[in-house]
Amino acid sequence: MVVISPSSRWNWIPSNIWVGTGRMTQEQVVFPLAPVYKRKGIIFHQAKAVAIHPEGTQADERPQVEIVFTEKGREGETRRLAYDYLINATGPRLNFDATPGLGPDEGGHSLSVCTAAEPRKVIEAARAGKHQRLVIGTGNGTCTCQGAAFEYAFNVDFELREAGVRDRCEVVYLTNEAELGDFGVGGMRFRQEGYQTTS
Ligand SMILES: Cc1cc2nc3c(=O)[nH]c(=O)nc-3n(C[C@H](O)[C@H](O)[C@H](O)COP(=O)(O)OP(=O)(O)OC[C@H]3O[C@@H](n4cnc5c(N)ncnc54)[C@H](O)[C@@H]3O)c2cc1C
Repeated sequence: MVVISPSSRWNWIPSNIWVGTGRMTQEQVVFPLAPVYKRKGIIFHQAKAVAIHPEGTQADERPQVEIVFTEKGREGETRRLAYDYLINATGPRLNFDATPGLGPDEGGHSLSVCTAAEPRKVIEAARAGKHQRLVIGTGNGTCTCQGAAFEYAFNVDFELREAGVRDRCEVVYLTNEAELGDFGVGGMRFRQEGYQTTS
């Protein structure tokens, strides 16, 4: 078994909502991959897949995936790996460009909980008497992880109350859901101990 991933470290994404409010540190939600795979006898290549040849090539008829190493010291090195079974699980690509001005790069207007971003100095500023407005939400309408934004909004509210600065902070929840609780997936239902709760 071979795993290919461009990053040497892995981020347990659901816990980023705690990093963003300072309850957990980046170190607690990000860890190196190589030791984990080594322990399990799985070959790990720090590389990115750039092409799939399911019908092989002229030189080799076996199905292959083409990879480019990102590992320090091997950057740019390429290799073709023949496979019997291929699992392509490259996840979503953050598309900040779909909403002008969104994202950490263009002027640094917003941070994303999809990466383990450290908290901003909101609480200190509020303590110093400065009114703060926090906008929490999702970007483009095709984004479907509203659940995380919702969780994060409640975490932020809790932290601001704990810090005694809630009255100086305006929290705005910005949503593109058709209805509140739609979450981009037509709503959710949770059953627990005979009760049903809807999102
Ligand atoms: C803040 C937050 C909280 C969440 N909370 C929950 C929750 O409580 N419960 C829940 O079920 N879900 C939750 N989710 C959703 C969940 O995190 C995602 O659905 C899940 O991480 C998707 O997993 P994935 O493996 O498809 O993609 P990813 O986790 O994005 O993994 C894709 C991997 O592919 C690698 N990759 C990308 N391109 C290449 C390439 N060319 N070659 C090789 N590798 C590549 C990436 O580096 C990455 O390691 C949350 C999401 C967020 C943002």
